[in-house]
Amino acid sequence: MKAPKVRARLDVCPRCESAIVVALDAAVAALPVRADPLHLDGHAELRARLEGRTTYNLLGLGGLGAPALVERIPELIVHRKHPVVATHRCPGPIPASAIPPPSPPGEPDLFTPPDDIPF
Ligand SMILES: [Zn+2]
Repeated sequence: MKAPKVRARLDVCPRCESAIVVALDAAVAALPVRADPLHLDGHAELRARLEGRTTYNLLGLGGLGAPALVERIPELIVHRKHPVVATHRCPGPIPASAIPPPSPPGEPDLFTPPDDIPF
């Protein structure tokens, strides 16, 4: 596990070996965030918040800027313009073996959707 940076990346939880998204939550005075990569709908987000987990917008998917985690403000929680993820809790929902090997430079990675989505 490497030190987190503002740019979100996939990693492995050292305790439960689940896939996690690691990032800093801001560019200045930031806190490290470890989130489950599973996208939450409204009910799942509410359940996560009732469990005391913080939820984040996962920005920058699809090649629109660098992937980043931005904490969701409770007053604006009804707005869902980006995928929503929650703070990681062991054991995570996705095993690390589900993470594909890193893509060569210039190749699309897990954060880049394929061009030929069939729907
Ligand atoms: Zn874990």
